[in-house]
Amino acid sequence: MRSTLAGPRVLLRRLREVMAEPINAQERLDKIVVLIAANVVAEVCSVYILRADGVLELYATEGLNRDAVHKTSLKVGEGLVGLIAADARPLNLPNAQAHPAFAYRPETGEEAYNSFLGVPILRAGRTLGVLVVQNQSHRTYFEDEVEALQTTAMVIAEMVAAGELEAIVQQGTKLDLSRPMLFQGVALADGVGLGHVVLHEPRVIVTNLIAEDSSAELERLERSINRLRLSLDDLLASGDFAQHGEHRDVLEAYRMFAHDRGWIRKIEEAINNGLTAEAAVEKVQSDTRARMMRQTDPYLRERLHDLDDLAHRLIRELMGRQHGPLDESLPQDAIIVARNMGAAELLDYGRDRIRAVVLEEGGPTSHVTIVARALGIASVGLVENIVSLAESGDAIIVDGENGQVHLRPAADIENAYAEKVRFRARRQAQYRRLRNKPSVSRDGVEMALQLNAGLLVDLPAVSESGASGVGLFRTELQFMVASSFPRMSEQKSYYEQVLDAAGGRPVTFRTLDIGGDKVLPYLRAIQEENPAMGWRAIRFGLDRPGILRTQIRALLHAAAGRELKIMFPMVSEVSEFHAAKEVVKRELAHLRRHNHPTPERLQLGVMIEVPSLLYQLDELFQAVDFASVGSNDLFQFFNAVDRGNTRVAARFDPMSVGFLRALRAISERARAYGTPVTLCGEIAGRPLEAMALAAIGYRGLSMSASALGPVKAMIRALDVGRLSARLLPRLDQESGLVDPRGFLSSFAEDNDIPL
Ligand code: PEP
Ligand code: MG
Repeated sequence: MRSTLAGPRVLLRRLREVMAEPINAQERLDKIVVLIAANVVAEVCSVYILRADGVLELYATEGLNRDAVHKTSLKVGEGLVGLIAADARPLNLPNAQAHPAFAYRPETGEEAYNSFLGVPILRAGRTLGVLVVQNQSHRTYFEDEVEALQTTAMVIAEMVAAGELEAIVQQGTKLDLSRPMLFQGVALADGVGLGHVVLHEPRVIVTNLIAEDSSAELERLERSINRLRLSLDDLLASGDFAQHGEHRDVLEAYRMFAHDRGWIRKIEEAINNGLTAEAAVEKVQSDTRARMMRQTDPYLRERLHDLDDLAHRLIRELMGRQHGPLDESLPQDAIIVARNMGAAELLDYGRDRIRAVVLEEGGPTSHVTIVARALGIASVGLVENIVSLAESGDAIIVDGENGQVHLRPAADIENAYAEKVRFRARRQAQYRRLRNKPSVSRDGVEMALQLNAGLLVDLPAVSESGASGVGLFRTELQFMVASSFPRMSEQKSYYEQVLDAAGGRPVTFRTLDIGGDKVLPYLRAIQEENPAMGWRAIRFGLDRPGILRTQIRALLHAAAGRELKIMFPMVSEVSEFHAAKEVVKRELAHLRRHNHPTPERLQLGVMIEVPSLLYQLDELFQAVDFASVGSNDLFQFFNAVDRGNTRVAARFDPMSVGFLRALRAISERARAYGTPVTLCGEIAGRPLEAMALAAIGYRGLSMSASALGPVKAMIRALDVGRLSARLLPRLDQESGLVDPRGFLSSFAEDNDIPL
C-alpha cells in the first residue's frame, strides 16, 4: 500500500545536503532526525546507536526530551528498540504501549506517543543501531514509509561505518563497530597469524548512495543485470566454469536469482526511493544478510549465500570492478577471510604476505586446508559470520592451534599472542637444530621419519626438514589444482620435479585418490549417497584403466634410471592389488618394447585403510613390496565415523584399545613376513600418538613438514623398549587399559618426554 508520502527521494536529496555540510557529527545527526520527522510526518524521530557493551544509546531525537540524548539506553532484546536490534527486522505498531516488549523510559516523555515504526540500521547485515519514528495517533505506517525509513537508515549506517560518530562517543563507552570479537572455529592448519583482514571477496565500498536521476539508475540496473545474466549463461554454456573455480550448481543458483523478479523488484523499489543502483543492491543485500545471519537451515543458508555472492557481482558490474582479489593492495601481514575458497585461489595469493586463512566453511580435509597446511599457513574453519563482521583492514589474530579467531583484539590479547609467536619461533629454532640429528630413540631404535607431500610448494621441505624421504605423495593434488585433466607429459614433468627435489631420497607416489570429498571440477561428479565409501581411488582407477594407465606411464617415464615406489589407495581386496600390478606390468612391457629407459628399481605397495584388509594380512604381505597404513581412512571406517564431519570427527579417539590392537596386528604381521610397513595418517605427526606407534612396532612414519621436529624430539627422548614392556601386556589383557591416552601422557611426563 502507498502513503501520501511526499517522496523519499526528496528526503534523500535533503539528506545528501546535510551530509555535505561542514558541521560536527552531533549537529548532523540532530539535523537528520528533524528532516526525517518532517518528511515522514511524524512527531518523533530518534536514532539509537549500538555500543560495544550491547546497549543501544539514544544519540539524537526530534520530539522526545532532548535531555535524554546519550542518557537513555536499552539493552539488545530490551524494549521495542532492543527487539528490533535483536531481530534485525522492522516493527510497525499502531499501539506501541500495548506491545509486551514495550519498556517505558520516563526521561524521554514518550508516553504521549502511540504509533511506532522502527527499523534496524544495517551494514553488510550487521546491526549498528535502530531508527525510530513515532506519532500520537494510532496509525499503521504504510509500506512505502517503512521502505523509506530503511533507505534512510542505510545513510546513517554509512555515517557510523565511516567512523564519524567516534567524535561524540561518550566517555567510557565504545561503539559496537569497533568491538573486539572472539570466534571459536575449528583448527585446520597449525600456526599463529597476527595481521590485518583481507576479504577474499572484497566488499566494494559504495560511496555514492543518493541518486540524481532515478530513471537513469533504473536503466543502469537493467543494463548491468542483462550483462550479468549473459555472462552467467556464457559461463554455463562454455562449460569452462571450472576455470573460474565454480561449480555448475552454484552457477545455476546464480542464474536463478538473476532472473528472480522478487529480488529485482526489491532493488528497483530502493532505487525509486532515491538510492543509486549500487546502493540499492547493497541495501537489499544487507537486508538479506541480516536474515541469513539468523538462518539455521543449512540448505537455505547456502542459497542465501549464493544470492549474497550474486549481489556482489552485480555491484561490481555496476561499478565496473573486476572479480577477484586486489593484489596490489595486499598488506604485508594479510589474513585472508573468506566464506570458502578453492585450493588454486589460495595459491594465487602467493605465500609471502599471507599470515593466516579464516573460513566460514572449510573442513579439515577440504582442499584449501590441505594446501594451507602444505604452505604452513595457520588456518581456522567453521567461523560463523566472520565475512559480515570483519571489515577490510581490521586487526585480527588467528590461532590455528586452538581454532580461535580474535577480531579487533584488545591490546592485552595482542601482547599475549605476540609472546606466543615468539615462543613458537624459539621452539621452531630448537626443532631446526634437530634437523641433522638422527631419529633414534634412547634405546637405539631407529624411526624413519618421512614427509607427506603433494604440491610443488612442499618440495623444498623434503631437503630442509631432515626427512628421510617422502612417505606419501598425494598425486591427486596436482589434479585438484589444475583446471583440466593434466596430460601425460604434464604428469611426467611434475613427477620428475618431485624426484629431483627429493635428491635421491625415496618417494612413495600414491596413485590418484579421487572420489569421496576429493572432487575434480572438470570431471563430472557423480552423486553418491556415501561418497567416502563410493566409487573412489583404486576402484575408480581399475574401472577407468585409461586414467590409471596414463598415470603409471608418466611415473615410469619420470623415474627412468631411478628408484620408484608406487602405492595404491583404498584397496579392500588383495585381488585389486594384483589387478593394479597387472596394469603396471603391461606398461613396463610397453616401455621395454619401445626401448624406453625404465626405473632402476620398482616397488609396489598398498595403503591399508579399509578394515577388510585386516583379515587378509597374510596374503597381502606376501603379495606387496611394502604397505602404508592410512589411519585417517582406516579409523573412519573402523569406528564408522565420518572424518570430514565436524560433529562426529572428534567423538572417538584413535588411541583406543580397539584401534591400537588393530594397528599392532598390522605391524606384527608385516614383521613376520619381512614386509616394510609405515603409517602416513595424521596420527603419525602427533608426538603422543607417534610414541604409541613406536611402542607397537612401527619403524617408519610419514607426516607433514611441521610435525617432523616435534616427533623427532619425542623419539630422541623415548625408551621404546620400556614403553613397549608397559603398553603391550596392557593391550593384551582384557580390560587392562581403560584410558590409553591418559596412560601415554603419564608415561611421557614420568620420563621427561616432550609431547
Ligand atoms: C589416510 O587415509 O590416512 C591417508 C593418509 O590418505 P588421505 O588422508 O589422503 O585419505
Ligand atoms: Mg586415505
